[in-house]
Amino acid sequence: MFNGLRLSKVPGVCPVIRQLKRIFGILVFFSTFSPVGLYAGGPILVDTDGSGQAILWKNGVIHYNLESGTAAKLGKLSNEEAVALVRELFDDWKNITINGVSTVSLTFVEGASLGSVDASNMNQHFTYCPPDKTCPGESAPFNSGSARTGESPILFDDDGSMTDAVQGVGASQSILGFAGPRVVESIGGTMYITEGQAILNGKFIDNVTSSSNPEVTVEQFKGAIIHELFHFMGGDHTQVNLSSAAKYLRGDKSEKDAIPTMLPLFVDGEAQLTPHFDDKVSISSLYPSAAFSSSFCRVEGTVFESDSTTQLQGVNVIASRDDDPLGEDTSSVSGVLYTGKGENCKAHAGRYILSGLTPGKTYSVKYEKISSGFTGGSSIEPCDPPQSGFEAKTLPGTFSCSAGGSVITAGTSASSEIVTTKTTTTTTGGDNQAVSSSAGGCSLLL
Ligand SMILES: [Zn+2]
Repeated sequence: MFNGLRLSKVPGVCPVIRQLKRIFGILVFFSTFSPVGLYAGGPILVDTDGSGQAILWKNGVIHYNLESGTAAKLGKLSNEEAVALVRELFDDWKNITINGVSTVSLTFVEGASLGSVDASNMNQHFTYCPPDKTCPGESAPFNSGSARTGESPILFDDDGSMTDAVQGVGASQSILGFAGPRVVESIGGTMYITEGQAILNGKFIDNVTSSSNPEVTVEQFKGAIIHELFHFMGGDHTQVNLSSAAKYLRGDKSEKDAIPTMLPLFVDGEAQLTPHFDDKVSISSLYPSAAFSSSFCRVEGTVFESDSTTQLQGVNVIASRDDDPLGEDTSSVSGVLYTGKGENCKAHAGRYILSGLTPGKTYSVKYEKISSGFTGGSSIEPCDPPQSGFEAKTLPGTFSCSAGGSVITAGTSASSEIVTTKTTTTTTGGDNQAVSSSAGGCSLLL
């Protein structure tokens, strides 16, 4: 019944924010590309002009500001209840464990409350570019957004009116929430998120049910909030166990626990409220504790086109534990960390890193396409629309390690390459033609 309900990762500022990856740089440094991060579920933003690394909140310190006052309700929830939910669900990301190990390092700083915010005064707090307008970006070091208010608002949209204002009239009937970084700054030569923003659409929990005002339970809605908070922290969507979600939508709920929180689809908020293994690896990769790096293994490799030379971006690579393939599988999109700019999905970057693997267990590695429906606000970096033209494949053999912290190289014993069947095409990474296929594309197509 929830097919068609949407969770967006960026609000109306998304043409500007997403362009960040395409306005940076004119050279492609793929030959020296050497990511040091441990990314799995991936970041929304990458410093493609410099380090090729994820752009995150500095030192894992997340700042946010909440509405306050009796008028600042979230559907049927009082302000106090809504505030408590946000705090609780941020803490859920912070308190993630894998095999009993605390794998996340995050600090939350709740700033001054905002009073009541609604459609009449939201422009004082929320930065967006309405769907029918073109909005300018900014010069470095402020590379996206334009607020710089020092606030990182998480707004409670009581009746859907703020959602409609940002996403277009009627959007509040299908979008439960949206969130993302809004200001990125260079601090000491490193790009950091310094402001984020989110709107949670309380129309879905207002006790009114009609064709133009769908209702979900608060428990279901919590699944949407925890999803949006991950975007607020700079984390991207993911694709694992897509077949489990498809099965659910056909009426078979037997694999609901395999549906990740960060799938772009809101399938079962209650099930997605509990982060899947892949979600745990994603947050742990973006904001790792020391124990995460030392306790688990990772698989690293590179995806190439059929010429065995050209690195291929945008391939979803999945490691799944052989004795629990739906419960313990995690993904990484090839070339999500890259530098330079070019046409969509044609940067010569094919590296991937699959983290969070348990020593002593065996895993299989496969690669697959990202669903062609995941575009715009539902996209998975670094490609929008997704990479195509190659075939899914499982690598021969299995992968295992004996001690935490070790790295397994995927491929044959003589090579770390994965060669796809994609036909080599003319690549133009490095030219000046920034083709932003997502410009203006904030809407979601499921
Ligand atoms: Zn999302």
